[in-house]
Amino acid sequence: MSINQTFEEAKKRVSDLRDLLDKYGYHYYVQDKSVISDADYDRLYKELVELEEQFPNLVSNDSPTQRVGGTISSGFEKVVHDIPMLSLGNAFDENDLIEFDNRIKKLTDKPFSYICELKIDGLAIALKYKAGKLVLAATRGNGTIGENVTQNIRTVKSVPLRLKKPYTIEVRGECYMPKSSFVVLNEEREENGEAVFANPRNAAAGGLRNLDAKETAKRNLSTFFYTVADFGEMTANSQEDALKELDELGIRTNHERKVCETIEEVWAYIQSFLDKRTQLPYEIDGIVIKVNEFEAQGEIGYTVKAPRWAIAYKFKAEEGTTVIRDIEWTI
Ligand code: NAD
Repeated sequence: MSINQTFEEAKKRVSDLRDLLDKYGYHYYVQDKSVISDADYDRLYKELVELEEQFPNLVSNDSPTQRVGGTISSGFEKVVHDIPMLSLGNAFDENDLIEFDNRIKKLTDKPFSYICELKIDGLAIALKYKAGKLVLAATRGNGTIGENVTQNIRTVKSVPLRLKKPYTIEVRGECYMPKSSFVVLNEEREENGEAVFANPRNAAAGGLRNLDAKETAKRNLSTFFYTVADFGEMTANSQEDALKELDELGIRTNHERKVCETIEEVWAYIQSFLDKRTQLPYEIDGIVIKVNEFEAQGEIGYTVKAPRWAIAYKFKAEEGTTVIRDIEWTI
């Protein structure tokens, strides 16, 4: 849309964009179905962010830009997250990363490095361990309230029911469906005349948020953990050390991560995964770049929706634009 549009034009477009994003968000987060590609969703979202920046009077609390996506199914017991489960800001090109780097340098004068991690394409979950035993698993939900999926998570074999040390901690990560499980599942569904899943993410979300934990078990889901929300007895003071400590506790982390001293190194790491991503046994939709040192993270802080000390670089859609329904006029 043109930069010179009037306030009234922008107001109308903002309202239309919010309606569309709410609708697609509902399908994606509640029904675990995508009716538009992620790249198209991200494009509409970016347009809304830009319009709200241009016309700050149009920002409102109920805008998708101000909320962590997701809703809570009434079938599950609700869980209030002690610490909200946030989203991440997005970067789409090298310039966005350079701007991120410049922002970080203005927000802290503490020494820092970056840690790059694969952005696993699944759904976020939180696990609580008490004295080393798994006591609670919850989905992110709307960020503040999630769903109690403890019984379901207990069927996921990569999740330890007991840690190697009797720690009381909360960890967060991604529950995903390996590519091989996805292929087998869709073959079976096709044979049974059932609708196939569009992607492993939807299949994983439908599997984990299933009221029958036996169905979850059949999906062969797996997990990678990447955040500690409650450190309990853990002593790490950087993201890299925290991930190593999780490994020692028996909690699965992804080992493709890399610490980078500069944003140029970060860019080279991203480039190296453009090809490599197709060879991974799981889907990734980008690279997450985080400030590694917790002291610097603390100084940099958060917005209402995401940490300022991290950003998700999103890959371009593998298969180009997927227009599924009623989107043609919007882009
Ligand atoms: P996001 O997917 O952009 O990023 C945040 C999430 O990344 C975290 O919650 C976490 O679950 C995940 N993540 C994976 N690996 C991680 C790592 N190593 N470190 C930290 N986090 C990691 O944000 P979101 O709020 O979950 O979802 C928004 C995105 O979902 C949109 O940008 C869009 O691509 C997609 N979406 C698509 C549709 C659609 O209809 N296709 C609708 C709504 C949302």
